[in-house]
Parts: sequence; structure tokens; C-alpha cells
Amino acid sequence: MKIGVLALQGAVREHIRQIQLLGCEAIEVKSLDHLYGLDGLVLPGGESTTMRKLLDRYQLLAPIQSMAKQGVPMLGTCAGLILLAKEIVGYKEAHLCLMDVVIERNSFGRQVDSFEVELDAEQIGEGIPAVFIRAPHIVSVGPNVEVLAEYEGRIVLAKEGQYLGCSFHPELTEDTRLMQYFIDMVKEYTKSSLAKSNSI
Ligand code: GLN
Repeated sequence: MKIGVLALQGAVREHIRQIQLLGCEAIEVKSLDHLYGLDGLVLPGGESTTMRKLLDRYQLLAPIQSMAKQGVPMLGTCAGLILLAKEIVGYKEAHLCLMDVVIERNSFGRQVDSFEVELDAEQIGEGIPAVFIRAPHIVSVGPNVEVLAEYEGRIVLAKEGQYLGCSFHPELTEDTRLMQYFIDMVKEYTKSSLAKSNSI
């Protein structure tokens, strides 16, 4: 299976390392041609406004949206979750507008810039180490979104069908359970798209 990591800015290498560790091929996505043939896509953490500018510059926004329409699973971490969201508090327009969540940026930012906690995540496991760096949180979710983890009463991990979004950075730790969960989503997708192409 081939999993792409949007590599315009941010925590790219760490995701690549986890994907490879779990036995998949990892592709750094820097231009349109890198998107072809991907079975899954990771949108990493970084700075969402900068990433949006680069998505526009390299004309990647619409192609990623059409991959999403085909059902390709996507994992957004931190700024990547902001890119996925349909709505961002205080902003007129969102970015990819794919996942039915309302996001607030820099929610934990004023108290402390960065911290690590352990979270129990439904369907994934207990004591998942979670690094928060000027992290957003999910303010509200649409009817098809499953909330998988909260921290201090705020939603920090959620899934909607093909989309998995988390406020924190799972790739900065040695714990690969969250990435494994995403890879399992990708496996399901490749099985169902193979079944579809076989039935044509
Ligand atoms: N604060 C950043 C933003 O709003 C996200 C931080 C991160 O990805 N670690 O885009």
C-alpha cells in the first residue's frame, strides 16, 4: 500500500518513518504527480495558513478534494486537521472542507505552548501518548462523526468515515497504534476499491 504525506511544510519525516515502520510505502507529496496511485494521504502538522498558501501555489487543493470524493482515506494531524475541517472558528472560509467538524485554532496555546499527555482512545487503545503543540480542538461534530478521544472536555480525536483527525502529534512518539489504525482504514479502502474494480 502506498501512503502519501503532504510534504509542503511541517512534521513530514516523522510520519514517513512510522508508515515505513508499519510496512507500507511512504511517498512525499510535493506536486500533483505524487498524488497518483496513492491509497491514503496524511496531512501533517505545521502551520495551516502557510500550508494553505502552498497548497494554492502548487495547485493541490482541488486534486486532494477529488481524491477524497473517490473515498481515499485521509489522516489530518494538528494543522492537518485544520486543513480537513469544514469550518474554522473566526474564519469565513475553511480549506479542504472535507470533514464535518468545527475547529478552533490554538486552543491550548495560551496556557502552555507544548505538552504531552496520555489519552485513552476508543477503538485504538489506552494510554496513547499525545504531544500537543499549539494545538487546535474540535468544537463540534456533525452527525456522522465518531468522537474517539477528549482531553479536558475537548474533542481531540475523531473519525468520519474515511477521515481521521487529531489535534495532537502521534508521529512524534514511538507509539504507532494511531498510525496502525489509519493503515487499517486504508487497507479496508483498498479491499473495497479492488472489489469494485473486479465487479466492473
Ligand atoms: N497552530 C497551528 C495552526 O493553526 C497548528 C500547530 C501544529 O500543527 N502543531 O495551523
